Amino acid sequence: MGKEPMRFHEFMPDQVWKWKMLEERLEKVLALHDYQEIRLSVLQETKVLQDGITALMQGVEADTAMQSVLSLSLPNDQLSLLSLRPEGTISVLHHTASIINPGEIHRFYYSGPMFRKLPNNQQMEFYQLGVELLGSQSILSENEVISLGVKICQELGVKDVRLDLNSYGCTKCQPKFFEDLRLFLDGQKDNYCPNCYQELYANPFCDTGCQSPDCQHTLSQGPQILDYLCPSCRTDFSKVKKIQANLGNKYKVNPHLYKNFAYYNETVFDFVVNQQGSDIVVGGGGRYDNLAAKIAGASIPAVGFYLNLDILFEIMETRGFFHPNRQDFMVYLCSESENLEMMTLQIAQELHSKSIKTIISPEINETAMQIKQAINKGCSLMLIIRDDNIREGKILMRNLVKEHQDYIPLQETIPAVILAQKALVTH
Ligand SMILES: [Zn+2]
Ligand SMILES: [Zn+2]
Repeated sequence: MGKEPMRFHEFMPDQVWKWKMLEERLEKVLALHDYQEIRLSVLQETKVLQDGITALMQGVEADTAMQSVLSLSLPNDQLSLLSLRPEGTISVLHHTASIINPGEIHRFYYSGPMFRKLPNNQQMEFYQLGVELLGSQSILSENEVISLGVKICQELGVKDVRLDLNSYGCTKCQPKFFEDLRLFLDGQKDNYCPNCYQELYANPFCDTGCQSPDCQHTLSQGPQILDYLCPSCRTDFSKVKKIQANLGNKYKVNPHLYKNFAYYNETVFDFVVNQQGSDIVVGGGGRYDNLAAKIAGASIPAVGFYLNLDILFEIMETRGFFHPNRQDFMVYLCSESENLEMMTLQIAQELHSKSIKTIISPEINETAMQIKQAINKGCSLMLIIRDDNIREGKILMRNLVKEHQDYIPLQETIPAVILAQKALVTH
């Protein structure tokens, strides 16, 4: 108590059905596009993670990235230091490098909780979907991946998602841009906090996420990478824009689109949703052709994206997209005496074998009380088993939707339930 609350998730049933709906929808789209799921360990070796994160960063930028990793306290045996995964790309690249043959293409996705430590030391968990297309350098694969992200958002009901596009250029066009941007930063040193200045100096594409009032964020007045693209990068970027426009995906070129992990080259993108007047980035990605060589020792051209599922969930919730499936038909089964336990369980077993949702009342209560409980559970039908009736070979069936009840022959219980289900579900 009194401490900063840890931002970890615990989903209760009233949230879980919504998450399942979200997951089912995105899995459907991914399966249609032949993406295969990878289930990664939540725990990762800190050393492997560090090598991956720092592969394309230097100095202060790498330090900052590692500071956001949530590590477990140092174990006393000869065990490696473990961290909670902050992302999944590094593991996926290691896996792919171990299985890929020349010319092969792999389409993978993973989803689940990721963990980070915020600058104020708060520990947080967030749900993320990661999608990677590995082994292709083509503009086609790039557009496949971008469109897939848009498609997933749309399938979740977020039809107004749009793209922010930028290009980071290649090793041919970047040096001159970096040189000019550093010159610009030199002249602007007083407008930045020391941390941002150092980070931007090391990687002009980095998103420092700085909230300090000392930082003037004057980069928009400085040189723009798009003005430095070599002819090949410029052609590629034009193609991406043209294809996305032809596919009907709304986009905006954003020359200030920056990323936390700085391993991207050429096309980078964000998925943006306008919610109550403000633009929210729900995900993003880009091409990262050089990362595999640095961390996994294999040259694998790659393009991928993430979607922040917490943010998408929130948007769906705010917009009222979650509707429980009211078509559910459920039977409430109760008995009037303990002698009937065996019969109750047998009837339940038969109903379950017909895939009919059935709840057994664990208590021997008055009928009026049972009816109340059945209604609270959302059941449509009640079967009430009484000693008197059973002796006469019948059972009481109460239709809670139509509010009437009938005695039916015991041996016709299952067909009568199925008949009632058909009548109720088609209504
Ligand atoms: Zn270039
Ligand atoms: Zn700053």
